[in-house]
Order: sequence, then structure tokens, then C-alpha cells
Amino acid sequence: MPELPPALSGFWVTFRTQFQKVNTEQYPEQKDKFPPKPRFHGRHQLNRWADGLEKCVGCELCAWACPADAIYVQGADNTEQQRFSPGERYGRVYQINYLRCIFCGLCIEACPTRALTMTHEYELADNEREKLIYEKQDLLAPLGPDMVPPPHAMVEGMDAKDYYDGEVTGPTDEQREEARQLQRNPGAAL
Ligand code: SF4
Ligand code: SF4
Repeated sequence: MPELPPALSGFWVTFRTQFQKVNTEQYPEQKDKFPPKPRFHGRHQLNRWADGLEKCVGCELCAWACPADAIYVQGADNTEQQRFSPGERYGRVYQINYLRCIFCGLCIEACPTRALTMTHEYELADNEREKLIYEKQDLLAPLGPDMVPPPHAMVEGMDAKDYYDGEVTGPTDEQREEARQLQRNPGAAL
């Protein structure tokens, strides 16, 4: 077959392409049709134990592991009057800067309590830079239907190791009562 002039070859490619299968994905109209892959790394989440206490112990290992310097953690001591996690300390301040994060997942590998994991949430764009620094309240997992919001005591008779061993399966009546008292008198835990 004689060779087409270069301009006609271009038109031939365009003409031929009209009959090929369209691969365009209609985002965001049909985004539910294209869920992320199971191992996709999206927004981070700070997890809780089954009774509502936080898993983060404020150790800062995630911040040290981060190659982009995107995490800032400030730990504080738990006290008997005000306990947020089963360990000695909890994460008082926890920030992730999504202007820096490259979603590599090194932070979640470094976390010793599996407090930090990554969700499938990927819609993180915003017009304001400040809104891309997520604070602890933006990252904390929502309370499950049975969970009691911290601060509250650990399950009676259990220590931090029991929590790590999965011995705690939900809140006790004492923890629920403590939360009710705190709701009635919010200054009691301070
Ligand atoms: S995913 Fe990577 S870049 Fe993002 S906060 Fe974690 S360690 Fe840092
Ligand atoms: S998220 Fe994990 S690694 Fe980071 S401070 Fe909390 S417990 Fe430590």
C-alpha cells in the first residue's frame, strides 16, 4: 500500500480512533463505579480501642519516620482524672500537613500501636492552604455506637498490655457511668 502523506496519516489516526472503545471515567459523577484499590493510601485515621480510648500514645515515631516532615505530634501525660489512652501518654496535639504528605505510608508502618492507619479517602483538594493541615479532631476515628468518649478510666482490672492483646471488647457500665457524670459536670475531669 502506498504511504499516505504525513497530514493525511494524522487524519487517519483521528478517524480510526472514533470507533474505538471510550475509556473516559466520569468523575465525580460516577465515582462510586471506580472504588480505590484495597491497598490504596488515602487520608490518615487515628484509631480507637473498643471502649473509645485512643490508640495513639504520643510517641512521635510516626513523625520521625516521615520523610516529608508532614507530621507534628505533641504528647502529654494521662492522669487518673483525665485519661485519653491506655498508656502513660496520649497524643495531645496531632497534625498532618497534606501539602507535604506524599502518601508513602512509612508513618503507619512505624506506629507501634496501629493507632495510625490510612483510609480510602482521596478527595483532599482545597482552595485554602490552611485547611490542608489536618488537626487531631479531623483525623480521629468516629466513636462507634457502643464507645464512650474519652477522657475516662481504663476497663477495671485491665492494663495497657491487655488493651494491646485485644482483651478489651467494649466499654463497661462503670465507664458509661463515668461519662454520664462528666456530661453532667464537665469540670470534674479538669
Ligand atoms: S504517608 Fe509518608 S509523607 Fe505522608 S505523613 Fe506518612 S510518612 Fe509522611
Ligand atoms: S500515631 Fe502511632 S507512632 Fe504516631 S505518635 Fe501516635 S502512637 Fe506514636
